[in-house]
Amino acid sequence: MVTAFTRLSLVDQRNLFARIVARCKATVGHPSPVVVFDLDGTLMDNRPRTLAILQELALELREEAHAHSEAIAAAKAESLAYLLTDTLRKLGLEHPELAKRAEAFWKTRFFSDDYLKHDIALDGSVDFARACYAAGASLVYFTGRDFPMMGMGSFQSIRDLGFPIGVVGTELVCKPDASIPDELFKRNEGPKLARVGHVVAAFDNEPGNCNAFREMNPEADVVFVDTQHLPGAPPLESKVHIVADFRTT
Ligand SMILES: [Mg+2]
Repeated sequence: MVTAFTRLSLVDQRNLFARIVARCKATVGHPSPVVVFDLDGTLMDNRPRTLAILQELALELREEAHAHSEAIAAAKAESLAYLLTDTLRKLGLEHPELAKRAEAFWKTRFFSDDYLKHDIALDGSVDFARACYAAGASLVYFTGRDFPMMGMGSFQSIRDLGFPIGVVGTELVCKPDASIPDELFKRNEGPKLARVGHVVAAFDNEPGNCNAFREMNPEADVVFVDTQHLPGAPPLESKVHIVADFRTT
């Protein structure tokens, strides 16, 4: 993947993760370590969710003998952009009527419990989350997904992929309302993580959220997971670590 960010080498990435796991052990002065994880684009790759939705759309279009059904059916994970309109453009589909229809079709499905089963774990993310938990940290899954439409599916997906959930020292935090902008939500709710404990590390795929975590938790290791992010994101604060995934080998 082409990226504008300078990622850590694999050796440095392994050392960073080992240091974070070591920080998950409770110590005098920091009795309750907490590791914060975003879900989409951080612990999980949600591109298979979009691909499944595009396949459904292709099927619907095929039944109508629509001219562009096969172009949509041919979409691959590599052809997906952050925004669906950009994805359609990459697939050579610039027809405004089709774009509007595809956007509406995608939106009602992408942001819903039923489609979260298509998400897959990022390389190494399950093992890393489990290692943090086993070392003694509480895990907070702090997501921009909203609770009414995606809360139950998120809980299930976290469980099915093998991340710790539903046990003491784990929690899922969602937006109460989908219309709240993600960064605003995380900036407003972030300070309340002190109720759970002392944040030792936070992971997110949005530069704005990483910068916010740095401001809120200057001693924490904040890690930018360089997958996909909103176009027009702010520059990343210099102390944020940059990784592509959670691999250690
Ligand atoms: Mg995300």
